Amino acid sequence: MTEGSERTILVTGGSRGIGRGICLAFAKADNHIFFNYSSAREAAAQTEKLVADAGGTATGVRVNVASEKEVAEFVARALDATGRIDVLVNNAGITRDGLLVRMKESDWDDVLNINLKGAFLCIKAVTKPMMKQRYGRIINVSSVVGVSGNPGQANYVAAKAGIIGLTKGVAKELASRNITANVVAPGYIETDMTAGLPDKAKEAMVGQIPLGRPGTPEDIARAVVFLASDDAAYITGQVLHVSGGMYM
Ligand code: NAP
Repeated sequence: MTEGSERTILVTGGSRGIGRGICLAFAKADNHIFFNYSSAREAAAQTEKLVADAGGTATGVRVNVASEKEVAEFVARALDATGRIDVLVNNAGITRDGLLVRMKESDWDDVLNINLKGAFLCIKAVTKPMMKQRYGRIINVSSVVGVSGNPGQANYVAAKAGIIGLTKGVAKELASRNITANVVAPGYIETDMTAGLPDKAKEAMVGQIPLGRPGTPEDIARAVVFLASDDAAYITGQVLHVSGGMYM
């Protein structure tokens, strides 16, 4: 369960971007990584290969994190294969941006279902095995905008703020079983999610970052690995902003 022994690590949304970076940061012989993705089968195969090249093992499974049944099957698969679940990283997320006045109900529902309900379902599915083990590390990926707000993202901001509340509730509920729950809140990270933004918007975001550059998936992954490590054993219910100072 502790570092140095074999651990089973679940990562949602591991096919691309930050999730792939997280899988790679955990890639080593002792770690059995199970990640899921929505539809990008080739990208998922590439994550599996990159983890293998780095000396680890990763199994990518197509799962909709908003489906309780699919999430339960995903967790059962990892549990059947390894007998334990040590770390859960809730990273899967989408955006459906638009001004509130024009936001479709389906855009609200999709973002809340995947970004917030998905995290709830995954936490629920790992809780029993983690309680039984009396060990667990849950790390939920929010966003600086979940704390600061952002125009044009009411659905996303609500989901990301919800992630913080969910994490605090879980942290208090599960602490007595030696299960910690924390949040990593990225700022502007260069991934497919932000690639389509207009150059002007990207420049404006970099202008708000004291460290003067966008973040990388590796910047986020290092914080996640820290929160899953023995060094973070006494940290729970916290929000770690990894944003180059974009939010302070
Ligand atoms: P990304 O490159 O768009 O990747 C999103 C990942 O989530 C993909 O692996 C995708 O799978 C998966 N996914 C989407 N819907 C899913 C579903 N229903 N079930 C399972 N997996 C699903 O995004 P990213 O930039 O790496 O973002 C990762 C997380 O960081 C998100 O929670 C995001 O909100 C958060 N974040 C990102 C930034 C940023 O600047 N990029 C900033 C703050 C927070 P497919 O590949 O199959 O589509």
